[in-house]
Amino acid sequence: MSDSDGKKPLGLRGSGPRPGQVKQSFSHGRTKSVVVETKRKRVIVPKAGAGKGRGGGVHASDPSKRPAGISDVEMDRRMKALKLAKANEAEEARKREADDLKRQEDRARRRAEIDAKEREETERKERALKKIADEEQKKRDEVEARKKVEAEKKAASAPRPAAAAPARPATPADAEAVAARPAGVARKMDRQPEQPRRDNKSPRNKATPSDGRRSGKLTLNQALGGAGGRHRSLASMKRKQERARQKAMGTQEREKVVRDVQLPEAIVVQELANRMAERVADVVKELMKMGMMVTQNQAIDADTAELIIEEFGHKVVRVSDADVEDVIHSVKDDDADLVARPPVITIMGHVDHGKTSLLDAIRHTKVVTGEAGGITQHIGAYQVTTDGGALLSFLDTPGHAAFTSMRARGAQVTDIVVLVVAADDAVMPQTIEAIHHAKAANVPMIVAINKCDKPDADPMKVRTDLLQHEVIVEQMSGEVQDVEVSAATGQGLDKLLEAIALQSEILELKANPKRAASGAVIEAQLDVGRGPVATVLVQNGTLRRGDIFVVGEQWGKVRALIDDQGNRIDSAGPSVPVEVLGLNGTPEAGDVLNVVDTEAQAREIAEYREHAAKEKRALAGAATTLDQLLAKAKADESVSELPILVKADVQGSAEAIAQAMEKIGNDEVRVRLLHSGVGAITESDVGLAEASGAPVIGFNVRANAAARSSANQKGVEIRYYSVIYDLVDDVKAAASGLLSAEVRENFIGYATIKDVFKVTGIGKVAGCLVTEGIARRSAGVRLLRDNVVIHEGTLKTLKRFKDEVKEVQSGQECGMAFENYEDIRAGDVIEIFEREEFERSL
Ligand code: GDP
Repeated sequence: MSDSDGKKPLGLRGSGPRPGQVKQSFSHGRTKSVVVETKRKRVIVPKAGAGKGRGGGVHASDPSKRPAGISDVEMDRRMKALKLAKANEAEEARKREADDLKRQEDRARRRAEIDAKEREETERKERALKKIADEEQKKRDEVEARKKVEAEKKAASAPRPAAAAPARPATPADAEAVAARPAGVARKMDRQPEQPRRDNKSPRNKATPSDGRRSGKLTLNQALGGAGGRHRSLASMKRKQERARQKAMGTQEREKVVRDVQLPEAIVVQELANRMAERVADVVKELMKMGMMVTQNQAIDADTAELIIEEFGHKVVRVSDADVEDVIHSVKDDDADLVARPPVITIMGHVDHGKTSLLDAIRHTKVVTGEAGGITQHIGAYQVTTDGGALLSFLDTPGHAAFTSMRARGAQVTDIVVLVVAADDAVMPQTIEAIHHAKAANVPMIVAINKCDKPDADPMKVRTDLLQHEVIVEQMSGEVQDVEVSAATGQGLDKLLEAIALQSEILELKANPKRAASGAVIEAQLDVGRGPVATVLVQNGTLRRGDIFVVGEQWGKVRALIDDQGNRIDSAGPSVPVEVLGLNGTPEAGDVLNVVDTEAQAREIAEYREHAAKEKRALAGAATTLDQLLAKAKADESVSELPILVKADVQGSAEAIAQAMEKIGNDEVRVRLLHSGVGAITESDVGLAEASGAPVIGFNVRANAAARSSANQKGVEIRYYSVIYDLVDDVKAAASGLLSAEVRENFIGYATIKDVFKVTGIGKVAGCLVTEGIARRSAGVRLLRDNVVIHEGTLKTLKRFKDEVKEVQSGQECGMAFENYEDIRAGDVIEIFEREEFERSL
């Protein structure tokens, strides 16, 4: 290695590093060239004077170049020795060269390592320096802030000398300090009084121990974001607290108790979490893991819930209706106690074939006249005695609606079906339907060929028609009894009753009148004055006054029993229809009534059923898994639905409407009944309707005030009807998109009856307050009691003080009297309406 070598520019041709020269490169761009060959030169020169040139060979055989005085032999020997030495030397040089190279490489590596360490060190130093600088800056800032505050303090409390602050000992006296400071500063400091003290051990504070407390309090600057370190420490404190909290919770979890979780058929997620004493969020998370996207308010089925309960390590206790209702089903009948009971008969058939007339003829009372729209809307039941002395119980049902809906609820009340077919007509769609229903329920049929008094009556055609539907009557050598009757003339009625009695004998119907009663609700309604009333057909046992019972989701104590004639009775045995008073709520048609021992039992069962029903409803409404959602969407794709919500005055009407709605529609359009119930239209009905974009239909009922305003607000349409046909027509038209403008009613006002007076010459006059809109003399009026329509007509008089007037505005009092109607009471509401033409938009 020589200086001249080092100065040589690198990479030059010829004059560059000679062969064997090694170029070394170091960090920071330093390089070095190492000439290895110089050593070889040094060895060669003294020994072989002839060998001048680098790598030049020695030509032994050339005597002219031989030094004088050396013999050939000697020359040869020398040459050989020289050659050997040269070879050795070359070998050595190669080795050395390799060693050098290795050493250099090692050195270079070590150097690189050291350099890296140095770099790290410098960086660390730089960081440290920066930190120190930062802290110094911080300190400076603090001192400045302190000075500023002190200056302000001086200004604020002039009598106190500046020495006040330093004179105060290091002991807290925070209150004083706060008091001495300007309000703004004090407030700011109060907000974080403790936090700076945590840093008392920092080197900064050690360095200036006298300032420790003060500087801790002077956080104005820090509060403005000057101190990153502070924020970090605050966050770390939070983390520490969080860790402590989690630790505490962790220990709680370790003490977790395994609970027995009561699991009904459906359970709302939140309730499930409650019963397990787990966090709702955890339960929802667990459900998500199972692929169920549910919120805490949605219900899940028992099987899913069971998996969840097991997942959380609790024990599942399945509860079902049967567990709670064991008391009901525990009675076993003794054969000796069983006695024959009357059959329960349902009359079915096509519309206008004379069902009502027949029932009416059998009962010897006229029910047909006075019915709105001519459809049987009020279901009841009655008993008749045949000439032969047999007792028969007839259900007065609107077509097949009650029959099927009751069957769907598990109440099989009908023993015999009387199929009415008009002799002047033939087997019609509803006749076929009735046949199917009877067959499905496995109930024997008797065919009553009606209207045989008519000249165009053709009973044989009916018989042959029936053959097509696998109903083979006796006249056609079959087993189904057939009787020719006329509801109009009463012809054949006795024969029909005898046929029924005969059929019932074949059935050998029996019941045990000694046991606690059970029965089925035929009809239920909220009666004005009497409260909830249910028409119950006793199916087994004997129902007595004072009995405690549970019926569907309701319960009660029999306050009164009223038979089909309207008489109060003390008890009702098997197959006897009675009106039961004393319920705590309105049950639904098809609900089963059971007498139980104690009120507590009744209440427990009713509450359980209510809860279970709620959960079931929630489950039905809940889209539980994405798969189900997709399936639902797919299924609905081709069919457009017209959702509606129906509220009616009595259960029978509601069911009749529900059945009628089901029939409307084809493959493309169908009516979806969101809900049907009894009673006034409430806010929750409107809410449900809004959610589904459905109109609310009131059948002989009205919306209460809250529901009306809610409907107005939400743009939900409420329609009122009192004739089922009108309702069906409208819905049909809407479903087929054929709505046309029509004359409709428009409510123009409401008035509340405050008092009722008797006025000679006029009769009963209602003293009213117009609560909404206007009352108009010429308009139509309806009388509503508890939101149920009880009369429709016109006004006889509209008086303001003593004068007859045309209109009375909202907020004013007036006197009103109805044309031909006197049953008005204080508290009744008068609805004032006008008819006008407007577009249908159902
Ligand atoms: P429902 O719809 O099946 O209940 O039939 P209805 O009982 O309302 O009767 C329909 C119509 O047929 C009414 O106008 C009855 O007067 C009439 N009707 C019913 N039974 C007879 C009958 O035996 N003879 C005649 N001539 N008319 C009848």
